[in-house]
Amino acid sequence: MDQYIGYTRDLLLETLAIPGCGGDTRAIMERMRAEFASLGIEAIPTRKGALVGTLPGRSEGGGRMVAAHVDTLGAMVKAIKPNGRLRLSPIGGFAWQAFEGENAIVSAHGGKSYEGTLLPDKASIHIFSDEVRESPRTEDSMELRLDAEARSAADVEALGIRVGDFVNFEAKPRLAGDGYVKARYLDDKACVAILFAAIKRYRDTGSLPARRTHFYLSNYEEIGHGISLLPEGVEEFLALDIGTVGEGHTSDERCATIVAKDSRTPYDFGFRRRLVELAERNGVDYRVDVHYRYGSDASLAAMAGFEVNFACIGMGVDATHHYERTHLDGLANTLKLLLAYLDS
Ligand SMILES: [Zn+2]
Repeated sequence: MDQYIGYTRDLLLETLAIPGCGGDTRAIMERMRAEFASLGIEAIPTRKGALVGTLPGRSEGGGRMVAAHVDTLGAMVKAIKPNGRLRLSPIGGFAWQAFEGENAIVSAHGGKSYEGTLLPDKASIHIFSDEVRESPRTEDSMELRLDAEARSAADVEALGIRVGDFVNFEAKPRLAGDGYVKARYLDDKACVAILFAAIKRYRDTGSLPARRTHFYLSNYEEIGHGISLLPEGVEEFLALDIGTVGEGHTSDERCATIVAKDSRTPYDFGFRRRLVELAERNGVDYRVDVHYRYGSDASLAAMAGFEVNFACIGMGVDATHHYERTHLDGLANTLKLLLAYLDS
């Protein structure tokens, strides 16, 4: 198992460095397509730009789908201010405070990229005194300061930056302590890496999952419409997404979470129970949790009316949609549970 955790960690750190906020996931999808190819799978793109790779199963019937989302939080240029700063519109659900002071890259309409930093309009305590502490952080009070000669709206336009350009905040990945992984966007790139680790295990050993399994990398989950199709024959859909660690929750960074319910719906009881039994039988350190404000590709697909059985598992992640943290033990437990499911 250790070699697969090494592979998972390395792939995770690499993918965290590739920008891919919801709406512009082309670069990260290209990298994912290459990863499928390196494992001998020709992945098929959907019309919406997601990617589906498939492994045949040991037996026919009862097809399965496993999904993880590559899209992350981010922003879009909403307005160019007269002082050359940019107003942003958020992509995905986050608090501006979570990104205050963060560096970001603007992918300009003209093809160039520019670095900048997200700041409140009133950032300097020397200039604004207590107003810095007291002013709310909202879409109308946060701005992106460009690291370019941009003192006016005309300067910004001359750089080739336009309303509608995508803004990707730095992920800042790093390893710390005895196996902690800290970064933005562990949601859901940690699960994407786990998905590939499972495929790699089958490729390395020459074995097959119990059933034909489609691996779906979705690209609009953070916005709420990740899954747009079910490949033919799929009866079960397991989403890989983070367990939310915090007060009132059982999830733990070192464990795999089996989600019983989120804010959209309870997950299928029989499917969840089977996952719990598999975890017990295979020595997976797991938690069953109820997520407070949360949707996964599986619960969103259920809400969208797809006729499929659905469940959700993932590693516990602390401070979700902020500067997140998990642990390599959480990755290992999630991979163990995923493989136990796929083998069963
Ligand atoms: Zn997620």
